[in-house]
Amino acid sequence: MKPKKKSALEEKKPLVAPEMTSTSAIQKIKAKRAEKLDAEHLITAIIKGNITALSKAITLVESTNPTHLDLANKIINQCLPESGKSIRIGITGVPGVGKSTFIEALGMYLTSLNHKVAVLAVDPSSSITKGSILGDKTRMEDLVKNKKAFIRPSASGESLGGVAQHTRESMILCEAAGYDVIIVETVGVGQSETAVHGMVDFFLLLKLAGAGDELQGIKRGIMEMADTIAINKADGDNLKPAKLAKVEFNRALHLYPLKTSKWQPKVLLCSALHNEGIVEIWKEIQTYISQTKENQSFSHKRKEQNKYWFLQTINDALKQEFYSNKSIETALEKQMLQIENSQISPFTAAKAILDLYYSSKK
Ligand code: GDP
Repeated sequence: MKPKKKSALEEKKPLVAPEMTSTSAIQKIKAKRAEKLDAEHLITAIIKGNITALSKAITLVESTNPTHLDLANKIINQCLPESGKSIRIGITGVPGVGKSTFIEALGMYLTSLNHKVAVLAVDPSSSITKGSILGDKTRMEDLVKNKKAFIRPSASGESLGGVAQHTRESMILCEAAGYDVIIVETVGVGQSETAVHGMVDFFLLLKLAGAGDELQGIKRGIMEMADTIAINKADGDNLKPAKLAKVEFNRALHLYPLKTSKWQPKVLLCSALHNEGIVEIWKEIQTYISQTKENQSFSHKRKEQNKYWFLQTINDALKQEFYSNKSIETALEKQMLQIENSQISPFTAAKAILDLYYSSKK
């Protein structure tokens, strides 16, 4: 006769699976619940326009912790239906041209019209120069205190790809929080102007009147990207050279083919310090928005930008995964040395590295 099976109670076995009773499992369940609650709490607060929740969510977006990133993705997905209703403006110009003075003037004007303004930055250099473009609290003194404005510097120590992606995600969060004008500032280091141009509706180039030869030293491609050029510091003794610069830039702009949006960029003068020309620039932005919305190029551009960012995000993630693979890192160094010593062709070396990568994936 088979011995009678002891009941769980008799065997003093736990009634639920042992792994479920362990403290770590309980902690996991609790953490999951807390995470869910936290995400829901943050989403609700963001949509209500709570600045602390918005800042917290942006910190999650910028985090390298996988749990934070999961949470950030959840929040972004939930915020997506609430986003997209803003006007996204990119502003670029060399250091000292007056970007922060201009953004402060424009921001204060827009908030006086009851707009809610968020200022973000794409500043991949901030880790090198330490002083990030928005990090210095003395910049935009009034806007920082303004209840209808939200200013967030870029996280330091990140690559352009990382910073740009995070700024784009932060933009969605800001829109969900009710900011209807998003300004993205960049100093134009490396490819950062292209990255910002690819995430905004309207791109403004700030310039200074120079010594006469205005077009000298202007970065290739930047003129094509600009939807408007504003010559800042058009005040005092600088007014006359600024007017001359306007003529020269206008002439140059007409040499470029018309944009697909059919928009003809203009050159305007302003003095951010004296609050002059700001209203006119805002009017120009509004004309651009209504014209491009009418001819559908506004929505077309946003769709194209989304498709670009979709592929870009995949590219960045794959690259990151590939280059952070330890065995690839070691093999790369070896192959590099062999290439240097002409012992192997770059193509054979690349194939060897890729084969190593594919076999590590099996
Ligand atoms: P950014 O580096 O491009 O952000 O430039 P800032 O906004 O910090 O301005 C650099 C300097 O130029 C500051 O001393 C500003 O006061 C000054 N500045 C900015 N806008 C104007 C302007 O319209 N006219 C004059 N005269 N000075 C200005």
